[in-house]
Amino acid sequence: MLVSIVIILHEHINEQASVQKLPMNQRAPKDREKLFAALVSFANCGDKVQDLNSFGRSHPTFFPTGFYEQSRQLAVAGKKGNFFNWYKRQLRTVWEVRDPDGTRLEVLLGIREMGFYGFEGGDFQAEMGEYQAIQADLIELWHTHGQEGVNLAANKLFGAQITADWHGGKLRYATQIDFQKALYLLMTESWRARLCRICRRYMIAAKPASLYCSIECSAEGRQKRDLGYWRTAGKIRRMERKASKEQEAEGENL
Ligand SMILES: [Zn+2]
Repeated sequence: MLVSIVIILHEHINEQASVQKLPMNQRAPKDREKLFAALVSFANCGDKVQDLNSFGRSHPTFFPTGFYEQSRQLAVAGKKGNFFNWYKRQLRTVWEVRDPDGTRLEVLLGIREMGFYGFEGGDFQAEMGEYQAIQADLIELWHTHGQEGVNLAANKLFGAQITADWHGGKLRYATQIDFQKALYLLMTESWRARLCRICRRYMIAAKPASLYCSIECSAEGRQKRDLGYWRTAGKIRRMERKASKEQEAEGENL
């Protein structure tokens, strides 16, 4: 169903056209690349509170302010989980193509609400349990520090909408959250979501042939390829050369 959906981007992003119609190799608009850069940075972000703070400083509008704040409060209070890390884990699972029925993708896009029903069985059950534990921890903080001290607005991530456009003949996906815009755009070019062959960092490939996240990893990859060649194909060639030399030597002896 989602394939036919056309994104409605934020007013200031001048990209009304259906993004999936862009040719693969066409240079992406600047805004999209910015969103992708933030998404890659989030996927690769560490789990510590300083990682969260540093990401929040670099990308203050990627998530709602309350989302950062409540995750920071939980981390500072010494709680095991928080939504920043929970969403990051779901994103990584989608990125690694381990979300076969699309549950995580729909939750991340904000078109499937997390509730106490509809997720029976499957590996998402455990993630669901952690989500509920985070909610419980937030409520506990709220009772300890008072409502004003704790931001409970995590459910703002579910604010995305799908609307029907009779004249346009399309369903439209609309969100105000940059994280969801970035993820939606990546979904329309999901072949670009990869893991670097060398350092295993999450990357968004510029071309179908891109396998490495950086010049450094690309150089290392080339080195490994050359070494691999030297060890396999090179070895065969050396053996062939040796064999033909031996044959020549035998010929001379005759
Ligand atoms: Zn790399």
